[in-house]
Amino acid sequence: MSAQTSPQKSPPKSPLFERVALIGLGLIGSSLSHAIRRGGLARHISGHARSERTRAKAVELGLVDSIHADPASAVKDADLVIICSPVGTYAEIGAAIRDSLEPGAILSDVGSVKQAVIRDLGPNVPDGVHFVPGHPIAGTEHSGPESGFATLFDGRWCILTPPPGTDAAATDKMVRFWQACGSQVEVMEAGHHDKTLAITSHLPHLIAYTIVGTVADLEDATQSEVIKFSASGFRDFTRIAASDPVMWRDVFLNNRDAVLEMLGRFAEDLTALQRAIRWGEGDKLEALFTRTRAIRRGIIDAKQA
Ligand code: NAP
Repeated sequence: MSAQTSPQKSPPKSPLFERVALIGLGLIGSSLSHAIRRGGLARHISGHARSERTRAKAVELGLVDSIHADPASAVKDADLVIICSPVGTYAEIGAAIRDSLEPGAILSDVGSVKQAVIRDLGPNVPDGVHFVPGHPIAGTEHSGPESGFATLFDGRWCILTPPPGTDAAATDKMVRFWQACGSQVEVMEAGHHDKTLAITSHLPHLIAYTIVGTVADLEDATQSEVIKFSASGFRDFTRIAASDPVMWRDVFLNNRDAVLEMLGRFAEDLTALQRAIRWGEGDKLEALFTRTRAIRRGIIDAKQA
């Protein structure tokens, strides 16, 4: 038997779920554990992660009430299963857990792309199990079980993308779950999610990775100056470009069409800007920078900064 248990604080009286299984216990999985504990949302949290190190750490930090080396064992008897690993692992995890999912349970996830998640997990959802994919728009550049915290989702949006025909009561229960984790919730179609996130999240990460990569290829002397004077702008890109390499590899491989479309538009705009600089068109530059400043103010006003 692969399950271990850890000491449990007194369980909540009437939680939303009896037993929540978290598959993956990194930044998002561990933050969910903290948020579930804070809200008293489950009587028992079972967990699975790939490595023995992460599983031991999750027990040590009290993230789980039971830890399982086998994902199928973790989801047994769970009325909510949330997959919190990189999206490239979903097909394999889905195949491993499908026969152990309880009838009536909700299967959800936190993956940053949604059409590929429905493609990879959907065929592994047995009849009677409700599939409600989700994506919390919250994160940091840190990874691993130590990086999570209970307030990560507070005031942030969580997008749910239930496929057509999903039981409305299951979707509604996940709306209440994420609200209880501190989030505002929006339900939308998976394709719309992927297009929206390609521009608001995936493209900015790609740009940050590119700029930091370009600097890494510069001559040594110039590089040291870049680090010394990084507060002039570069530093903010390095924070984004420090995000988890495996997670982001999987995001780009699994949202290819939408990212390439947005990248094409971005490249056109960049060329227009290049032209404006070359021809000394200061009015064009100033007009753009005035518009972008207003966008930043809008984000601050919406309390998403
Ligand atoms: P993370 O900190 O790197 O944690 C990933 C977790 O998944 C680790 O516990 C890892 O276990 C586990 N894992 C990896 N491969 C696995 C496998 N084959 N089977 C079982 N477990 C496996 O990553 P994260 O930032 O929490 O991201 C997790 C998910 O959240 C991703 O799908 C990502 O798209 C989504 N997301 C991330 C953010 C963000 O800002 N980070 C925001 C929203 C959504 P080991 O530690 O043992 O390797």
